[in-house]
Amino acid sequence: MKAKITDRAIIVKVTNFSETSLIVRCITANHGFISFLAKGLRKTQDKTQLISLLEYELNLYSPREQGLYLFADANLISENTIYTHPETWAAAECGIELLEHLLIPPEEYGCYYDLVKTYLAYLEKVGKNSILILWRFWIRVFKLSGVDFDPLLCSHCHKTGEIVAALDQSSGSLLCKDCLDDASRANLLLLSSAARDILSRMPQIGNLLDQIKLSRSVAIEINALLSAWWESHFHEALHLRSLGVLVQFY
Ligand SMILES: [Zn+2]
Repeated sequence: MKAKITDRAIIVKVTNFSETSLIVRCITANHGFISFLAKGLRKTQDKTQLISLLEYELNLYSPREQGLYLFADANLISENTIYTHPETWAAAECGIELLEHLLIPPEEYGCYYDLVKTYLAYLEKVGKNSILILWRFWIRVFKLSGVDFDPLLCSHCHKTGEIVAALDQSSGSLLCKDCLDDASRANLLLLSSAARDILSRMPQIGNLLDQIKLSRSVAIEINALLSAWWESHFHEALHLRSLGVLVQFY
C-alpha cells in the first residue's frame, strides 16, 4: 500500500481524464502544487464534488515516483462564490497562475497557501476592479519571494516618498525622474501619470476600489510593468494566460 497523506488544498483546475476519472490540480498547505487522479469521481453525481477555488481537506495516496497522487476522499473546509463572478474568477486564476511560475521552497509552502487563502477571501468581497487586488497580491508575492517591489523607492539614488517614473528593464531597477537622465533610454519602461497615480494608491487600495476608474490601457501598462519586474528579477519570461482574460473586463 502506498503512503497516505492528508493536507488542506485549494482546487485550481479540474480536467476530465476518461469517461469516469478526473485529473485535479491544487495548491496545498504542505506539499505545494500537486496533481491527483480521482478515479470514478466524474460519474459521482451527489457524493464528492471537487469545485475550483474551494478549500478541502484531502486524503491522497502518494505517487511511487514522480507522478500523480491518487484521490482517496475529501471534506469541504470552506466555500466561496468567486466562480459565479467572471471578473473575480479571472483575477483569482491569475494570482494562482502566477504562483505556478515560482519555485517555492518547501518550508514556505504554508506562507504561500495562506496568502492565496487571504487573497480569495478578499476577492469574494470585491464587486469590481478586482485587478487592483490582483496587483496587491502580485506585490505581496514579490515581497515574500525576496524581490520587494517598492514604487516609492528609487533603486538608483535611494530617494523615497515619490512614485518612480520608469523601470530599467536591463537592471530591474525602478528609477525616479531625476535619475532618468543618467539611464540609457533603450531599456526603459516609462510610466504614464495615470499608472503612477494608481501605484501611489496601492497601499490603501482596498478602500478605494469603488472610486478608481481604470482604463484598459492603464491595466495593460501596470500588467506589463509587473511582468517586466518579474522577468528582470527571475530571468524568466512571464506570460499569464488568465491575465489576457482579466484585462477584457476593463
Ligand atoms: Zn533616483
